[in-house]
Amino acid sequence: MSSETIFTKIINREIPADIVYEDEKALAFRDINPQAPFHVLVIPKTAIATINDVTEENSHLIGHLYVVAAKLAQEHGFAEDGYRVVMNCNEHGGQTVYHLHLHVLAGKEMGWPPYQDTKKGLA
Ligand code: AMP
Repeated sequence: MSSETIFTKIINREIPADIVYEDEKALAFRDINPQAPFHVLVIPKTAIATINDVTEENSHLIGHLYVVAAKLAQEHGFAEDGYRVVMNCNEHGGQTVYHLHLHVLAGKEMGWPPYQDTKKGLA
């Protein structure tokens, strides 16, 4: 199965994105459908489909995504107020793009628990 997704096209500049950070291992760009005043996706440049595909060998890339998230928080001034990072996995987790990514959401107070309306409860 090809690991190419729309995010590969963003990395390769084949489609546009509002890129806010880049280094040799990661790219961060604004979510096209923002759920908070600041909503950025941080992705590894090496495609990993889901959290289920994280291994000891590639796990350093996941740590790096958090380093980038913390950098963004400092640079964009929401480190102190706080923010949320979310990584969805597969259908029940709400994943729609199968190139693992960290959502970084900030600029408003987040609700908890995160599930509301449709799929409630522990049952
Ligand atoms: P998830 O549902 O966790 O897989 O998140 C995928 C996210 O990618 C969603 O929040 C989408 O709004 C976002 N998204 C999809 N296509 C693009 C795109 N071309 N540029 C920026 N964000 C995108």
